[in-house]
Amino acid sequence: MKSEALNNNQLTESPMNIIDGKATAQQIKAEIAAEVKEIVAAGGKQPHLAAVLVGHDGGSETYVAAKCKACEECGFKSTLIRYEADVTEQELLACIDRLNQDADIDGFIVQLPLPKHISEQKIIEAIDYRKDVDGFHPINVGRTSIGLPAFVSATPAGILELLKRYNIETAGKHCVVLGRSNIVGKPVASLMMQKGYPGDATVTVCHSKSKDLKEQCLKADIIIAALGSPEFVKADMVKDGAVIVDVGTTRVPSTVTKSGFKLTGDVKFDEVAPKCSYITPVPGGVGPMTICSLMMNTLHAGKKTYYR
Ligand code: NAP
Repeated sequence: MKSEALNNNQLTESPMNIIDGKATAQQIKAEIAAEVKEIVAAGGKQPHLAAVLVGHDGGSETYVAAKCKACEECGFKSTLIRYEADVTEQELLACIDRLNQDADIDGFIVQLPLPKHISEQKIIEAIDYRKDVDGFHPINVGRTSIGLPAFVSATPAGILELLKRYNIETAGKHCVVLGRSNIVGKPVASLMMQKGYPGDATVTVCHSKSKDLKEQCLKADIIIAALGSPEFVKADMVKDGAVIVDVGTTRVPSTVTKSGFKLTGDVKFDEVAPKCSYITPVPGGVGPMTICSLMMNTLHAGKKTYYR
């Protein structure tokens, strides 16, 4: 078993390599920080990310705190705007309007999920797509799917960046995506079939109504599992030498950890890993790359790479 990050040329012919998302994310954040330093030294503007957090959901608090910390590591300015869970949709829309108008804010996110009385879709569509660094606005989703420059949603962008940094071949490969959500399954499937690298794959998307999911997986050169179903992918579903990207993160009760739960992926790691050429662990695989992609999008928002 090897953990070889970052220097593609040094990857050995080991039968199985662990894709180290944590180390890759650290390296990318350092690259972003160096670029921000140069921009600021040349008299340019420090990128500024704002995050809107509604309520006190434990998971959302953790994610937003991690995003603010990542901003610091990248040399960005960050602003956290908090609302209680009883904020009205109208108040939240007014906040989005202010952020859309604020010239100092390059990009912003509204942390999901939102309380039930607020329409998430309405909120997403109210965000100026030029500041939509989460890449959830239909304009960014649409532009991504037709191969135009756009803010790509963070988890799919992180997955592609990992494939790229590990020099994993995708052209002509059969990629099976498990899950068809708007934030992971659909966009990652769309990116894997785009012309170019990483992409050019033949993509199959499976979901809860798929009848031949196991047969599809057995034919896959690359499996991207985004189901939210712990240890769903077993060794008898994977062909030898496959590349496995495990997006799943489910909190499963545990007597071993101090917190009382264990973050568990969609892949039964111990039995699947020995069959693979590459595999992402949980935690430490796709997870760290998601926040890192948000940072990359924020850098692009600051530089006005996609939109003026
Ligand atoms: P989601 O919106 O719940 O979608 C899950 C998808 O998987 C759906 O398309 C569903 O099919 C399909 N599915 C679920 N169970 C299945 C089964 N037993 N057989 C076949 N298909 C099944 O989830 P998501 O937001 O995409 O997230 C997926 C997982 O990734 C979760 O564990 C989430 O926590 C994790 N995640 C991690 C990160 C990260 O940064 N690491 C980011 C985002 C998500 P239907 O459409 O037919 O219902």
